[in-house]
Amino acid sequence: MIEQQIKSAIRDIPDFPKEGIIFKDITPILKNHALCLAIVDEFTHRLKGEQIDAVAGIESRGFLLGVALANKLGVPFVPIRKAGKLPHTVKQKMYDLEYGTATIEMHTDAFESGARVLVHDDLLATGGTVSAASELIQEMGGVVAGYAFIVDLTFLNGREKISAMSDNVIVLAE
Ligand code: 5GP
Repeated sequence: MIEQQIKSAIRDIPDFPKEGIIFKDITPILKNHALCLAIVDEFTHRLKGEQIDAVAGIESRGFLLGVALANKLGVPFVPIRKAGKLPHTVKQKMYDLEYGTATIEMHTDAFESGARVLVHDDLLATGGTVSAASELIQEMGGVVAGYAFIVDLTFLNGREKISAMSDNVIVLAE
């Protein structure tokens, strides 16, 4: 089963990036091309019947399989990046972190108004990043068509934060 394959591939890194945090390292997934293909196939399968006009991937691990997913769905991939990284005209969204704030950006021509955008990231933790990404998409005239995550750290209740924007939340492993 894909959930088991994902769980066995991911490794826990204690005290990264700071003490007390157990970081879920997804890089071993990337070394397994069959698993990468299976993940993209599973997302595509679960999205059957949904109208998706673009996949928005969140920097940086949301880029890794986000492009493959968009290619498989036959729709554009659009990157959501940290401030100052995108070269063309951008729209910004600031959001709160545990300590301080962060800003994400998208190109203003990322998608047409009314487009149904699927948000993809490797992992859902508190949901702060994807919430900000969803608000940015909505402020740009897009519709959040759903979410696709490889992993959900359920104990952080990220789903609660995003369910108001779309109840189409695909998670492959918890
Ligand atoms: P959130 O905003 O939901 O709290 O955090 C999710 C974001 O932080 C995602 O972009 C994700 O890539 C990154 N992130 C947070 N914790 C982890 C982790 O343990 N492993 C990985 N791979 N990414 C994490």
